[in-house]
Amino acid sequence: MVTRRQFLFGCAGTLAALSGASFASEYKKINKSIPILLYHRVGYQTDNYTVSPTRFEDDMRTLSREGYTCLSLAQVKQYLQSTRSTPLPDKSILITLDDGYLDNYINVFPILQQYNMKASFYIITGMIGEDDRLTASQIREMQAAGMDFGSHTVTHRFLSELTPAEMKIELTNSKIALEQLLGKSIDFVAYPGGSYNTQTLTIAKEAGYEAGLSTHYGYEMFHSPFEMKRIPLFHYDRSITYVMLRKGLLPTLLQ
Ligand SMILES: [Zn+2]
Repeated sequence: MVTRRQFLFGCAGTLAALSGASFASEYKKINKSIPILLYHRVGYQTDNYTVSPTRFEDDMRTLSREGYTCLSLAQVKQYLQSTRSTPLPDKSILITLDDGYLDNYINVFPILQQYNMKASFYIITGMIGEDDRLTASQIREMQAAGMDFGSHTVTHRFLSELTPAEMKIELTNSKIALEQLLGKSIDFVAYPGGSYNTQTLTIAKEAGYEAGLSTHYGYEMFHSPFEMKRIPLFHYDRSITYVMLRKGLLPTLLQ
């Protein structure tokens, strides 16, 4: 079992992001930043990384009711490439799911469609089609319905523990595998376990990615596209409202 605190502290560099000063400054800049939500499994397990379908639907209903716009990865890429000169829609949000579990197709995909929302799914390409993981045809079907995909490497080994040559293989081969599967450029990578170092960022850029998603906590302000922050949602969280209000990160829900 991993608590929120263990998860956050297990991620390199999170200590700074957790300081009171950091939260205060993020709160002030909230209008220039977006929440990137991070889910893993949506199902009936009781581990910390699984939220129930009911909870997930409640979260999506809340965001929909509050008027949030789900960004596509293409929109984020365009925003980054325009050096942030093209404003994102008001109340933009990016929904991400890591690890490519089968429940993403069975439970997440129908709920997103029901609420006319979209998400990006980060796939461990060496596990496509394995037990309890998304299959190639499910991934293609989801893409055809407007869902986005990114790399979560080939094997899910923690990148900061690998040699540069191993990192390059993980980042490059997963990108190529997804590009061949989906017939489009794969521009985003989510680092397994939030693990990376400065070499990882260089290698990811050289591999052709546009951005990298970390597990540093907080709103994303686009200061460092290869170290994007996210807000993880856990089994024990009562609701998205609770999670985001607790850190003062979603003031609109107070209204
Ligand atoms: Zn993962």
